[in-house]
Amino acid sequence: MSENKSYNKNRDFSKTPEPESESKTETHSRAKPLFVIQKHDASTLHYDFRIEIEGVLKSWVLPKGPSTDPSQKRLAIPTEDHPLEYADFEGIIPEDQYGGGTVMIWDKGEFSNINTQNGKTVPLGESYKNGHIVIYLEGEKISGGYTLIQTKSGKLDDNWLLIKMDDDKADARRNPTSAENRSVKSGQTLEEIKSTEQKSS
Ligand code: MN
Repeated sequence: MSENKSYNKNRDFSKTPEPESESKTETHSRAKPLFVIQKHDASTLHYDFRIEIEGVLKSWVLPKGPSTDPSQKRLAIPTEDHPLEYADFEGIIPEDQYGGGTVMIWDKGEFSNINTQNGKTVPLGESYKNGHIVIYLEGEKISGGYTLIQTKSGKLDDNWLLIKMDDDKADARRNPTSAENRSVKSGQTLEEIKSTEQKSS
């Protein structure tokens, strides 16, 4: 996939610990696709939201992270596809490399496609192309229905918005990005990931 090539092209795998994207199509035995939200302390702190669609992780930068408040529309800036293995990546990208900085697996889980039209499920790939994705997330921190919608239709490089659906997982008072700052993989904060990695290298 051309998107995967641009992922590889952006990176020097002799220098970054990130996984290399293989050209083979990923196969897996999971019943549901996966999503990951990575907290990334790069030149500016942000969250990367990645959801499995057609064998790759479609990816967006969330400058403010996800919200559990349905009244909050969170900007989601599309970025290059990442390989599925990236959902397990936590560690330090060297400062002189693309996206240099510490990466934490802030949340991870499976999701369901709940986008329907005239009573039929709209396939995820089609939802992506249409700029209108409706999914039910089952993470440790983030769960329930979310809509990802492209602000202008037609061009895939336009920005999107991530909006919590008003369901039983909605909570306007919860502020997970500030209150919950540990990895679901290691239990560590960004600072702890940084100091652990520096000791072991
Ligand atoms: Mn990032």
